[in-house]
Order: sequence, then C-alpha cells, then structure tokens
Amino acid sequence: MKRILVTGGAGFIGSHLCTRLVNEGNDVICLDNFFTGSKQNIIKLIGNPNFELVRHDVINPFHAEVDQIYNLACPASPVHYQYNPIKTIKTSVMGAINMLGLAKRTNAKILQASTSEVYGDPIIHPQTESYWGNVNTIGIRSCYDEGKRCAETLFMDYHRQNRVRIKIIRIFNTYGPNMNANDGRVVSNFIVQALQNEDITLYGEGLQTRSFQYIDDLVEGMIRVMNSGDDFTGPVNIGNPNEFTIRELAEKIIMLTGSESAIVHKELPLDDPKQRQPDITLAKKLFDWEPVIQLDEGLGKTIDYFRKQITNRDGDK
Ligand code: NAD
Ligand code: UDP
Repeated sequence: MKRILVTGGAGFIGSHLCTRLVNEGNDVICLDNFFTGSKQNIIKLIGNPNFELVRHDVINPFHAEVDQIYNLACPASPVHYQYNPIKTIKTSVMGAINMLGLAKRTNAKILQASTSEVYGDPIIHPQTESYWGNVNTIGIRSCYDEGKRCAETLFMDYHRQNRVRIKIIRIFNTYGPNMNANDGRVVSNFIVQALQNEDITLYGEGLQTRSFQYIDDLVEGMIRVMNSGDDFTGPVNIGNPNEFTIRELAEKIIMLTGSESAIVHKELPLDDPKQRQPDITLAKKLFDWEPVIQLDEGLGKTIDYFRKQITNRDGDK
C-alpha cells in the first residue's frame, strides 16, 4: 500500500485516478479547492477508510507524509482557466513549487500533469516531445500554456538541483464521464447540446483538429509512468493519435445520439490551435502503452453518462 496525494483529485481526471488508486489498495489523499471539481465526482469514495478528502488550495504549502504525488490541480477548460487568468498561472507555478517542496522533504515521487498546450499552435505535426512549441506569451491562453511550461521548468530544476524524483506527462485532449456539463470543453459541450436537441456550437469552420483520448487510457498511462524507474523523468506524450476535425466530432456526436440538433457557427476563439496530434512512439517503447479505446466506444460511454445526468437533473425539477 502506498500513500498517494492527488492534487485536483475532485476534478474530471483526478476523480478517475483516485478511484483507480483506492481500488488498487492505496491510501489516497485527494486535495482540491473545488474551483472546477466537485464532491459529486468522488462521492463513492467518501467514507472509504483509504480515502481522505482535503479542501486546500495548492497556492499554499501543504504538509503530509506521502510516497507519491500526482499534481493535477489546475482548471483545464479554456473557459475556466481564462475566468481568472492570474489565479490560473499562480496555481500552475506556486502549486508546482509547493508540491515539489513537499516531494523534496518527503522524498516522494512526483508526477506533473502537463499538457499538449505546451506545444501551442504547433508547426511540427504530429508533436514529438523534442518539439519546443509555438506559444504566444501574451495571449488569452498564455496563463495556462506558460504556467504549464514554467511548471515543467520547475520540475526539471528541482530534479537537477535537488535530485527530486519527477515525471512529466503531456496529456492530449481527454474526455469521459465526470466531465462537468458546464465545463466548456468541446466533447462535453457537443454531447450535452446534442442530447437536448440544442444547436451545436462549432467555433470557426470546425476544420481545426484534435486527437481525443478516453479517460481510462490516460489513467493507465499515468500510473505506468509514475511507477517507472527513477532514471526516467519525461516529458512523455500521453494521448490518442487518431486525429479528427472538430466538424467531424460534431457530426459523429449527432449520429451517435440520434440528435436533431443543427450545427451553428460561432467565432473562433483567439489563438485556438489549428492542429494537434500526439506522437506516442516514446510511450509505446518505454511503457508498452497505447490507447485501446477508440472514439466511437469512448463517446458511447460518455453519452450514457451525460444522458443519466440530464435525466436525473430533469427528474429533480
Ligand atoms: P478539471 O478542471 O476537471 O480538474 C482540475 C481540478 O483541480 C478541479 O477539481 C479543480 O477544482 C482543482 N483545482 C483548480 N485549481 C486549484 C487550486 N488552486 N488548488 C487546488 N485545486 C485546484 O480538469 P481535468 O481535465 O481533470 O484536468 C486535470 C489536470 O490535467 C489539469 O492540470 C490539466 O491541466 C491537465 N490536463 C488535462 C487535459 C484534458 O484534456 N482533460 C489535457 C491536458 C492536461
Ligand atoms: N470548440 C468548439 N465548440 C465548443 C467548444 C470548443 O468548436 O463548444 C472547439 C475549440 O475552438 C477548439 C476545439 O473545439 O478548437 C477543442 O476545444 P476545447 O476547449 O475542448 O480544448 P482545447 O482547445 O484546449 O484543445
């Protein structure tokens, strides 16, 4: 049994990770300020003696004796991270410093949930870990992109200077149950709109691409990387290389839900990356990891989740 701290543990990814870690017999502390996460996401774990929920903001130091730290705390949806951009960058940078300090004191291994956003609007396609990215330092996405880039720098510097055992994973667009219906990200937006026969909001022409990974594949990848030998620091891409245009995604969701929704065009947000696809050669080679759940299957599970959420909500009215 390991003592494991998950920051941002009540969020979309964190809730799945906490569940898996508790189910595998670990003692898990879930730390969250509930900015975008919710107790509902981890309700089934509350009361389990191997699970502890702590309301805490990672911009403040935190003390606990732990063996591993997964640092996930940070809003991930553009709508939420742009709501209070100064807080977003503080969360990434001060959160990283505080958690790295804890890892240094306790000699815990620490994994950073970095992002494909460190590649910005990429010129190299697909993106390999050796690509340094194309990021606007002063745009509306910079609070997130530069915060995450700075966090990667801090991780490497704590490793080089203080021998902290680190892992950096760069997560590509991930979706699944426990996403917030009001999250603002594309998969949840389109599914919730389709299930209610509301207009599907396609930003721009919808020709921009993303490569969507189902949550279970990500959690498997995270755990494999965390448990790898101390000589591997990363960064390593964790994502599904199957690439789709956003228009294709909208059409697929309409088809899978049997929706009568129409597609309407909205303005493309500033600095919206035009293309994104992970090169996962490194993860395959080192961890024998690759995604096994493809888009139709993953969307099916996610649609079932949101259908239940909407039915329960409407039943309560
Ligand atoms: P999410 O918004 O659902 O979860 C983030 C969690 O962090 C929430 O529970 C939120 O309340 C908490 N949080 C935010 N600020 C905090 C703070 N200052 N102190 C403590 N808790 C705080 O997002 P997610 O999709 O679960 O993302 C989790 C992590 O993975 C984030 O770091 C994100 O950058 C990274 N990531 C996610 C994706 C994706 O596609 N989902 C892609 C790349 C990287
Ligand atoms: N998008 C869209 N309609 C929406 C939400 C998002 O067309 O209702 C587009 C958005 O412009 C982007 C893509 O979908 O090109 C993915 O957006 P998301 O916010 O999910 O993630 P990110 O841009 O951070 O990859």
